[in-house]
Amino acid sequence: MQKTGQIGTDKIRSAMKTEETSMEIKKKNTNIRCSVTQCKHNMLSENYCGLDCICVGTHEQNPTVPECTNCDSFVKRSSTQG
Ligand code: SF4
Repeated sequence: MQKTGQIGTDKIRSAMKTEETSMEIKKKNTNIRCSVTQCKHNMLSENYCGLDCICVGTHEQNPTVPECTNCDSFVKRSSTQG
């Protein structure tokens, strides 16, 4: 059985872990240039992606031009993310 003080410490540790996760530090990947600033993985100040790798797909049966392709790693940036 945990003492009351231990429970408090566990709650603080849990909160800190959540904070660390939400403050994930991005590092630009100079191998992936991208100007999609609406994506949460975009570096914003520089036209680079912050992921180690991305998945690219298509929404067409027979892609013929760049517009036929999509970044399947795109995640919409929330309004609170910088
Ligand atoms: S995940 Fe795709 S859309 Fe998002 S920043 Fe990286 S390359 Fe751009």
